[in-house]
Amino acid sequence: MNVFVINAGSSSLKWQVIATDSGGAQGQGDVRLCRGAVERIGGEAIVSTQDLRGARQKFTAPARDTRAALDYVLRWLLSDASGVREIRGWGDIHAVGHRVVHGGELFHESALITRDVLKGIEDCIDLAPLHNPNNLRGILAVREICGEAMPQVAVFDTAFHASIPEHAYLYAVPYHLYRRHRIRRYGFHGTSHRYVAYRYQTLLQLKPEQTHIVTLHLGNGCSATAIRGGRSVDTSMGMTPLEGLVMGTRSGDLDPAVVNLMAAKEGLSPHEVEALLNTQSGLLGVSGLTNDMKVLLEELEEHEDRRVRLAVEIFCHRARKYVGALLASMGGADAVVFTGGIGENSAEIRARICDGLQWAGLTLNENQNQQTTGREGRISSDESRLAAYVLPTDEELLIARDTARCVLGTEGA
Ligand code: ADP
Repeated sequence: MNVFVINAGSSSLKWQVIATDSGGAQGQGDVRLCRGAVERIGGEAIVSTQDLRGARQKFTAPARDTRAALDYVLRWLLSDASGVREIRGWGDIHAVGHRVVHGGELFHESALITRDVLKGIEDCIDLAPLHNPNNLRGILAVREICGEAMPQVAVFDTAFHASIPEHAYLYAVPYHLYRRHRIRRYGFHGTSHRYVAYRYQTLLQLKPEQTHIVTLHLGNGCSATAIRGGRSVDTSMGMTPLEGLVMGTRSGDLDPAVVNLMAAKEGLSPHEVEALLNTQSGLLGVSGLTNDMKVLLEELEEHEDRRVRLAVEIFCHRARKYVGALLASMGGADAVVFTGGIGENSAEIRARICDGLQWAGLTLNENQNQQTTGREGRISSDESRLAAYVLPTDEELLIARDTARCVLGTEGA
């Protein structure tokens, strides 16, 4: 089944076309036919694409909104210019899968989009005002362009965390606030955590119920999840993706009283403080330079800049602290799994996080750690009681598989 996977943001649209092997053994034969992104939607947008053979194209195109961007991408895909031979007409796209950020308490798994599901996603806008409206726009644009008959599936970032028990998801605030406004921890990056748990399980030939790991998704956004028996039992992100680890531009955890203090001292509204914590903080805020970890590490090596060093140290300290907390929360684990742009590519950050986890039985194999970049591998020493792995994430693949499964009505990964 050819699945068009969409991740619709406020000014960008990322997409992939994946031919899923719905008949064969799980994970066998899924083929990525093409991928791309439209950025700076709103005017003259930048379109970049990469086909099956790795050939890249980059050009500009007018796209005033998500619908126009999607219309452009689909026309391009169907044209000779794309070089995607498998997609020659609308009939060659069999279903569309969407990343939807917030499923609230309504969605515990991926769902075929019906009128009720659309209403449910709308109802979750309150919980994710910055994300769900964009995801909805993507769904409605597909409907307008491809017609109602095109099956569409929503894959929620929050769904994997639906198994977190009450004592781990409730905040210790007056209970009626949870009842009235559903204020609680939801967790995000669920598709990524679920994918790497699935890869771990496949590599080690385990059953889901034998899968006990802490997963660290370290990208621009960062989160850690405790997975016991293959299910999420605790996670670092909260009501919104702001809580938890230090991220590219997000602060992660801080004393909630700081919000008021910052507002008073800096003459900011609560909304402005929240924006500052989301977009001006984290690695960017501390270093004063960039949110890009690769650049920070290069800078550190060349200039030994004090604030850059601090940004990297705070990042690693927080990640290490969360690994410890989640190990305690879940009663111990067999492995720590690194994923996301930083987790997959930076041996240095992995080493810094693991240095200090010897008490938990984790020791790295330095060579293995250095040599494992952007690919799957075990990076802990043979004696390590707590193993460590690098497992690159592939959220789009899981979205494509979920989409095929929901459309065909079958069970799957
Ligand atoms: P997103 O969360 O937007 O999908 P990614 O998962 O691609 O982002 O992660 C982006 C982060 O990964 C950036 O901070 C980038 O600098 C970092 N990164 C990528 N490669 C390396 C590397 N070799 N060393 C250190 N950091 C890296």
